[in-house]
Amino acid sequence: MRKIAIVGAGQAGLQLALGLQDQGYTVTLVSERTPEQIETGRVMSTQALFHDACLTERQLNLNFWEEMCPPVEGIAFSVPHPDLNGDKAVAFAARLDHPAYSVDQRVKFAGWLRVFKERGGTVILEQADVQSVDQLSEGHDLTVIATGKGELGRLFARDDVHSPYRAPQRHLALAYLKNTVPRPEHSAVSFNLIPGAGECFLLPGLTRSPDGSLQPYENVLIEAVPGGPLDVFENITSPDELLSTMLQLMQTFCPWEYERIKDGELTDPQATLTGRVTPQVRRPVAALPSGRLVLGLGDTLVVNDPITGQGAGSAARAAATYLESILRRAERPFNRSWMQDTFGAYWDHARFTTAWTNAMLGPPPPHVLAVLTAAQTQPGVAHAFVNAFNHPPHFFPWLTSPEEAAAFVDRHSTSA
Ligand SMILES: Cc1cc2nc3c(=O)[nH]c(=O)nc-3n(C[C@H](O)[C@H](O)[C@H](O)COP(=O)(O)OP(=O)(O)OC[C@H]3O[C@@H](n4cnc5c(N)ncnc54)[C@H](O)[C@@H]3O)c2cc1C
Repeated sequence: MRKIAIVGAGQAGLQLALGLQDQGYTVTLVSERTPEQIETGRVMSTQALFHDACLTERQLNLNFWEEMCPPVEGIAFSVPHPDLNGDKAVAFAARLDHPAYSVDQRVKFAGWLRVFKERGGTVILEQADVQSVDQLSEGHDLTVIATGKGELGRLFARDDVHSPYRAPQRHLALAYLKNTVPRPEHSAVSFNLIPGAGECFLLPGLTRSPDGSLQPYENVLIEAVPGGPLDVFENITSPDELLSTMLQLMQTFCPWEYERIKDGELTDPQATLTGRVTPQVRRPVAALPSGRLVLGLGDTLVVNDPITGQGAGSAARAAATYLESILRRAERPFNRSWMQDTFGAYWDHARFTTAWTNAMLGPPPPHVLAVLTAAQTQPGVAHAFVNAFNHPPHFFPWLTSPEEAAAFVDRHSTSA
């Protein structure tokens, strides 16, 4: 059997490693942290996985936590009234055809890493660099770099055509809360768009409490437009201060959400995160000093702002696409053209996610506002909009064309 090395034990790297291992491949996985370090480390994401991404995990029987995880049954979209008087200027909600799930990546990655090891996988515990990757690649038929937003990604050249931004478009603050109140109608990603200021998101998930038991919690994510009224996190140093600042912002900008989380407490001492992401696409193949080639995977190649909640789902899809391509390759060499084709098969879908996510970072044009307005009174439009989160190609072509947007509304106005 062929030998595959994977650097990076996150959503993409672990899922691919476990999938290959299941098919009898000899897999070496490089992780910079032990399962215990991951489990007790800082939160990383809100990690909502929509249905198609969940299916890629289910197909490999890796959905260990799904039954315990509170389902995300829909998406609720709101825009506050410009006077911030507690009213909503836009509001609609619809159910997803199939629920999404948010399993704390600390739980998932630690669990998957343990399973990979128990099933006989080789784990190298180190922070890989170019030299160590080069050495590793010597003994493997294929080396995949899945280090997310880590430094190693710089091996891969920037794709300027698909990377419109040179700087982060949002400053992020994330908190995991317990003792919150569920949405009354159905659970949802609550997506609050505050024009010119940013976005506030709430969604339920599953985490591990400090006593080791699994517990439901609420993700609270604020995405601040740099320099805007939500962009106040820079000098905050303590988790408690971050939480009280986030609560104050929610009270001002989306009081209906504040009511649900005002008594919330952090789930654990590492339950907060601040940061920023520069959206970027990179070329899929890089050469090591030896001349051997490596293939990038997941956020290493395509990183989007979390505004649309797609990165982990895209990483899962990428892992599934690469797995299929590796299996199909059988004994033939993993050469440059195969690597490019493998990424290309993923990019055929991911390009829609990237285009949609980048569009969401700017102010919505009038034809998009018209769709959002129609969604308030037309359940069919709301349903189509919400369910496109599971399949971003469905945001096109209407997202970029006023005529297509009008046709989209017409098409879905009659269907509930
Ligand atoms: C605030 C926030 C909210 C988000 N919300 C969502 C959401 O709701 N839904 C969604 O789908 N996505 C979301 N995302 C994005 C999602 O978390 C990522 O896109 C996804 O985890 C990417 O998977 P990956 O495997 O490519 O990288 P990662 O999951 O980041 O894994 C990379 C791994 O490589 C390791 N690593 C890095 N460098 C090295 C090295 N040199 N040597 C060894 N190991 C290394 C890292 O420790 C990590 O374990 C969010 C992101 C953020 C920041």
